[in-house]
Amino acid sequence: MPRRRRSNSTTPLPQTVHRRLAALEAELTDNSRRVTQLENTLRAVMRETENVSVGGPCVCGECLLLVQRRRLYCPKCNYQQTM
Ligand SMILES: [Zn+2]
Repeated sequence: MPRRRRSNSTTPLPQTVHRRLAALEAELTDNSRRVTQLENTLRAVMRETENVSVGGPCVCGECLLLVQRRRLYCPKCNYQQTM
């Protein structure tokens, strides 16, 4: 086992794995930037829109719940709940 561990630590990752990791890192950075943009935009829209705010994630997992007039609803799956 020690010999195997030593050989693993000295064996460089294949070039394809390095390329895939670099691609995933770039994708992650891109997605993070997009999420930040959406959050900032959503916050601005909430400020402009009266009586509507954003709650936690819906049970469907596809959308955050909107809160309007003591009612929670999901614009994605139409789940509704009165507060
Ligand atoms: Zn939903």
